[in-house]
Amino acid sequence: MNYWIHVKNSLDQAMLHRERCIEIPSTSMRSDFWEGGWFEYSDRETALDELENTGLNQLVHCPICKP
Ligand SMILES: [Zn+2]
Repeated sequence: MNYWIHVKNSLDQAMLHRERCIEIPSTSMRSDFWEGGWFEYSDRETALDELENTGLNQLVHCPICKP
């Protein structure tokens, strides 16, 4: 299962999602260095490492898909 990280720089927050979460946009996967964006990882371990590496203060898990 793939995992997604939604980086929200403006909120100083990164949120972890499971593949197929309804929050993941099906179109326009635009990533922006300043605003953030959606990033896909092939496993949970890598995604958790990358979550730490975002350097953001709020590292949260999606309340909907509970990754
Ligand atoms: Zn989710």
